[in-house]
Amino acid sequence: IFGPERRNSAGVNIDIESQWEPFQASVAVFAKHRWLAGPIVAGKRIVEPLAVQPVTAPYDRREVVGEVAWADADLVEQAISVAEQAYPAWSALSASERAGCLLRLADLLEAHRGELVALCHREAGKTIHDAIDEIREAVDFCRYYANQACAEFEERKAVNGFDGSRRLLGYRGRGVFACISPWNFPLAIFLGQVSAALVAGNTVVAKPAEQTSLIAFRAVELMLEAGVPDGAIQLLPGSGSEVGAVIASDVRIAGVAFTGSTQTAQRINRTLASRSCPPVPFIAETGGQNAMIVDSTALPEQVVRDVIRSAFASAGQRCSALRVLYVQQDIADRVIGLIKGAMAELVVGRPERHQTDVGPVIDAAAKDKLLSHIQSLKKWSKVVAEAKMGGDCQYGDFVPPTAFEIPSIEVLKNENFGPILHIVRFKASDLDGVIDQINNTGFGLTLGVHSRNERTYRHIERRARVGNCYINRDQVGAVVGVQPFGGQGLSGTGPKAGGPNYLYRFVLETVEACKP
Ligand code: GLU
Repeated sequence: IFGPERRNSAGVNIDIESQWEPFQASVAVFAKHRWLAGPIVAGKRIVEPLAVQPVTAPYDRREVVGEVAWADADLVEQAISVAEQAYPAWSALSASERAGCLLRLADLLEAHRGELVALCHREAGKTIHDAIDEIREAVDFCRYYANQACAEFEERKAVNGFDGSRRLLGYRGRGVFACISPWNFPLAIFLGQVSAALVAGNTVVAKPAEQTSLIAFRAVELMLEAGVPDGAIQLLPGSGSEVGAVIASDVRIAGVAFTGSTQTAQRINRTLASRSCPPVPFIAETGGQNAMIVDSTALPEQVVRDVIRSAFASAGQRCSALRVLYVQQDIADRVIGLIKGAMAELVVGRPERHQTDVGPVIDAAAKDKLLSHIQSLKKWSKVVAEAKMGGDCQYGDFVPPTAFEIPSIEVLKNENFGPILHIVRFKASDLDGVIDQINNTGFGLTLGVHSRNERTYRHIERRARVGNCYINRDQVGAVVGVQPFGGQGLSGTGPKAGGPNYLYRFVLETVEACKP
């Protein structure tokens, strides 16, 4: 697995019957299962005497998926102490010893795919394709960072000075890293952050999103099974305002990896800055107001396929998702007509069904916010299409995929984290103005471009200030080690997840200078 022969996880091809049947059977085993989760500190699973919350399915709130106990401030304090004590021994291991744990974890994730997919459906409302991709990405992060750590940190590197001197550059973990992760990639981003921090030689306190603690709990159990020592990983489920805030304000935290909203990142940043201790790295991957620019040379059928996936896959709950489609006036009627047709075919419903394209959103609060955005847009802008909802949607938190025509990206004040597409017509002579409007949002995550004119797409790519620019394809689903992912401005600090520089933010560099 180490070295250039490393491969990404193969996943499952559900269109092939010989793969679909055993896959479906392995997921069905967990169709009625109830999970119990809570904090994990020093290898101990703790439920009593903490407050326990029920977990219900986003697609049907009558279905109980399990229960989760939330950590309190005392437990946060204990967990950080345990991680601090475990740090010297864990960081003294070689990079390949730590990487070995991640490789075993990757194998365990694949071996437990059925259960993890069931959890993705039932706790997070993920469709089959999204759930399969989620497990693949988690596996890929573990293997990729294991591979990177071995290549970069196993041996110290010789730096030969111009004066003939030779220096040895080494790397070690920084201490206790806090990993605060989102519900939209409850396994992949959770494990991406944690595996990077661990393999770089840090011990970890991890706070998963409130909505997806069960998945995180199973991931940590598998991590312990894979040989990560008890003290190296602590899991602290709980609310952001309590558990997250207590973690970030603790002076023993030597770095934070965060993925979530821009507002929460700003809050964590302020908390870190107010601590009376030296500054530490803050790695934040946040939101976007992502656009796609389509000029008149684009192929409408291809555009529409990529628009539908970019805007509505995962019910639009990806920070990379397309929010604003700019389409050149000359082909706008044709493209919008095809979008209408494609949206009429979307199947919205229970996520574990083979035919479902769009599942529920994460919770009632998300649904209410999105529906109120739809209501307010209906008052003053033109509805292009609204997808039908299936009969099985009534008990869950569903939002119909909806598309509107609006005058410009400037009318949108917030990121709308769901299946809502805004469409803007533009004239060829306004192209630079369009790019500037997109830049002026302050976000800079993904940009899609559809054009068959190389000069045009190169020009757009150069002028746009975004982290990931996708040309003549969809703009979601960055693949680990293939499209390193992350933005700039309000979209995050970098470095890019799943890219060759990510691990460097998790280490301290040390230099040993020798006489020539
Ligand atoms: N990496 C994901 C993608 O490319 C998005 C990550 C996120 O939503 O935080 O679609």
